[in-house]
Amino acid sequence: MNIEIDPSRLAREIDELALVTEAAPPAVTRVVFSGADLRARAWLGAKCREAQLELRSDAVGNTFAVWPGSDSGAPRVATGSHIDAIPNAGKYDGVVGVLGGLEAIRALKRAGFRPRHGIELIVFTSEEPTRFGVGCLGSRLLSGALPPEAAALLADDKGDSLDAVRNAAGFSGTLDSIRLSAGGYKAFVELHIEQGPILERKKIRLGIVQKIAAPASAKILVEGAGGHAGGVLMPDRRDALCAAAELVLAVESAARETHAPDTVATVGICDVFPGAVNSIPSRVRLTLDVRDTDLVRRDSIMQKISEAANLTASKRAVSVRIDLVNADAPADCSALVTQVLAEACRAHDLPFLPMVSRAYHDSLFMARLAPTAMLFIPCRNGWSHRPDEYASPEDVGCGALILAEALARLAA
Ligand SMILES: [Zn+2]
Repeated sequence: MNIEIDPSRLAREIDELALVTEAAPPAVTRVVFSGADLRARAWLGAKCREAQLELRSDAVGNTFAVWPGSDSGAPRVATGSHIDAIPNAGKYDGVVGVLGGLEAIRALKRAGFRPRHGIELIVFTSEEPTRFGVGCLGSRLLSGALPPEAAALLADDKGDSLDAVRNAAGFSGTLDSIRLSAGGYKAFVELHIEQGPILERKKIRLGIVQKIAAPASAKILVEGAGGHAGGVLMPDRRDALCAAAELVLAVESAARETHAPDTVATVGICDVFPGAVNSIPSRVRLTLDVRDTDLVRRDSIMQKISEAANLTASKRAVSVRIDLVNADAPADCSALVTQVLAEACRAHDLPFLPMVSRAYHDSLFMARLAPTAMLFIPCRNGWSHRPDEYASPEDVGCGALILAEALARLAA
């Protein structure tokens, strides 16, 4: 079988979808269930129908475009990613996996391939946490990682509930109808830009992901006592920012002390109240994000941070509260799927690099439902989540080709 990808058509479609944005191009802003997201879904739906795929959406708007296989009882082979984009993002994150997946399917059809297992393109709802504060909303619900009762409590900044917003977007049905049972898919493969610099530096066009790191994230609230910056003398102070500063450094050491390259910890937000030059900070809100490919190691870091928080609280007579937002388990990719991807690369004489995904993706949750792996392509300077995110048409085409080859092998 001679699989031929049309890289210029694929590049054109990526450019076209990037114009469906709520920011001025080249920036892409496509927050879930916004006008731009709904227009993008309609545009993509038309492309899928044009490719003669059967379309179905679930109650949260996850969309499945199906190429039925000759054996309707055989579990399907799935690929896909997301088309939502954080404010001021670029045009490749997620989109490469969706439009690349569509082009892979079209290329297999052009080559005359007839799948035995149905092939499904999945477009996941809200991979980005922008609107409801939870990343991978769609795949979490599909896999059962997010219980429907918890999803029902989600609301956006305006106070509109997930239920109200999804219903207004045309996705009805109950949240508990979304979950899929494990074993329904033979395999899941997600094509994605690396969002890091390794492939570009090594001049290798393809990465086969072996492990997906997962974050534990928390909100930290430090409360001390405020007062006049001149009036309250040092022995009497219970400065919340000084306590928070101690804690931020404890987070850094907890991650450094593991000496494991896959361990990272970040405090990304520090909100100081009341935030005046002559006022002692009485309250500080921090965010915490700890990631690792090893669950035990990551949990031990969370434990160390919690011990450091207790120590700081008692030493400085402040209160420290840590509220866990999520703590997903990292995933190992399936040996079956990574091997098929490796064979696909070899069949096309393309070198590949075994990699770790340090960002998490819908694949992290799909791994709970199906043997899963990811295929990475390089992006310029490793940049992502910014308007100048870039992957060359040749690299995107190369990713789509290997994806098509792997889907054919898995679905035969
Ligand atoms: Zn993504």
